[in-house]
Amino acid sequence: IIELKDIVKTYKRGSEDLPILRSISLTVEEGDFVAIIGPSGSGKSTLMNTIGLLDVPTSGSYILDGVVTERMSDNELAALRNQKIGFIFQQFNLLPRLSAMENVELPMIYAGIPRKERRERAHEMLKMLGMGERGHHKPSELSGGQQQRVAIARALAISPSLILADEPTGALDSRTGEEVLELILQLNAQGNTIVLITHDHHIADNAKRVVALRDGVIIDDYRNNADKSDVKQEVSV
Ligand code: ATP
Ligand code: MG
Repeated sequence: IIELKDIVKTYKRGSEDLPILRSISLTVEEGDFVAIIGPSGSGKSTLMNTIGLLDVPTSGSYILDGVVTERMSDNELAALRNQKIGFIFQQFNLLPRLSAMENVELPMIYAGIPRKERRERAHEMLKMLGMGERGHHKPSELSGGQQQRVAIARALAISPSLILADEPTGALDSRTGEEVLELILQLNAQGNTIVLITHDHHIADNAKRVVALRDGVIIDDYRNNADKSDVKQEVSV
């Protein structure tokens, strides 16, 4: 579902071009659960933003779900993003003035889904995440774990091809983080493709595949708990 080839991202600082991603090539199959790990500043969020079409690479090619994204306009990229990707962030990124329900409806508004259908679907999603009774609450009236559930409901609202999560448990206590991990594992078991950034080894151990970044380069790429016949994928650096 993700095909990144020779992705380079540089940022300008003064007259210098600072490399953040240095020729990253990565393929992710549908249904996989990939954890991206690596030290702070290694380029994880930059890679995630590239995969999420929030940021355009300096060079390289990216095919998302069969769609060639090079040379697309900002509007086309936004449309593709709204159609295919569900995001979950560390700080939940819910809109504070909207209710839980309205937050879940938001991506469906962008997707042009009619109001009645939106309402029903938002309620269904919240219910699935155990938040059915909380639709009218504002984010500030919910605990961190509850807010992240709303954010997950929002990510799922458009039935995305791909779920991207940047440190989804980073702002949660360990018990609530464990619950959110369980939810993510369930979503993956239901066939959702998940790419998640984490500093938490326990979460990485629960992913199917782990990709390690360092200084903008993939330095390791392996599958968890696969039997030994399953190849430990070699990485060309
Ligand atoms: P963390 O674990 O702390 O979240 P990360 O691996 O997600 O780190 P990135 O956010 O991808 O790291 O940043 C990688 C590098 O790129 C950092 O050195 C950062 O300062 C730099 N960087 C990121 N965004 C920009 C930007 N918009 N302009 C300039 N430099 C940037
Ligand atoms: Mg980051």
